[in-house]
Amino acid sequence: MPEGSHRFQVGTVNCTVLSDGYYSYPARWFFCNADPDALTHALEDRHLPSDEVLSPYTCLLIETGRHVVLVDTGAGDVSSTSGAIQARLDMAGVRPKDVDTVIITHAHPDHIGGAIDLCGRPAFPNARYVFSEIEWEFWTAARSDLRALRVPEAAKESLQSMARRCLGALRHQIEAIPAETEIVPGVFAIPAPGHTPGHLAVLIESEGQRLLNLGDAAVHPLHLEQPGWQNGFDLLAERALDTRRELMERAIAGDMHVMAFHFPFPSVGRVEKHHSGWRWTPGW
Ligand SMILES: [Zn+2]
Repeated sequence: MPEGSHRFQVGTVNCTVLSDGYYSYPARWFFCNADPDALTHALEDRHLPSDEVLSPYTCLLIETGRHVVLVDTGAGDVSSTSGAIQARLDMAGVRPKDVDTVIITHAHPDHIGGAIDLCGRPAFPNARYVFSEIEWEFWTAARSDLRALRVPEAAKESLQSMARRCLGALRHQIEAIPAETEIVPGVFAIPAPGHTPGHLAVLIESEGQRLLNLGDAAVHPLHLEQPGWQNGFDLLAERALDTRRELMERAIAGDMHVMAFHFPFPSVGRVEKHHSGWRWTPGW
């Protein structure tokens, strides 16, 4: 597989993680309530810069034999360091018209930006776009209340404008789901609120093997190690912590592999209980 792709099997289902690119965020945005010294120490311990987080964007292609499903679409034209998803799909032998289902974990720009093309039309013309009903209602309301986010106002405004632009373009192809739903056989969308009100996780299950895609329920392995450290982009911070705990317990109880959109590429690994949190071990 080309660079930026990593393929593996979940039972009989072919999965490929595809890099859309990355973006660099101030570390304070990602760990908004962490003690500054403890954060610097934790990042330096991992040989990472202490002031910024270079955050990968990783989408998941699921090929079941009958269905071609894409989970998240990357950021599209939002930044010069992202927007590679169409090229990655092309290298994986998938054309835009082949994708029959797109699952959007939530309507932040790095997940929904690639759902529309440069002309503002749906980038996957034959796909239904699966989305949480709650998420749809939140972003299409007269005004989305983003006051609880702990990021600068300009960042909140760009979240709002991008969600409106993309959801408007996708409105005829949206399938809004109210609860946990089997999207295609063996692929389940699971409500995982907190990061956004209608945030979804995705579970793939085949022949006793399972992969749980956390979406943005955790955006850095340190959010697993230090479960109290909050992400400034989590709208409902306490709910986000509960969701993270529920998903970790589900992954461990079900002996699942785990994927997370913003974890170091290829963004798949396993989790185990460790002190008050969980340890992340990369790899499939
Ligand atoms: Zn994200």
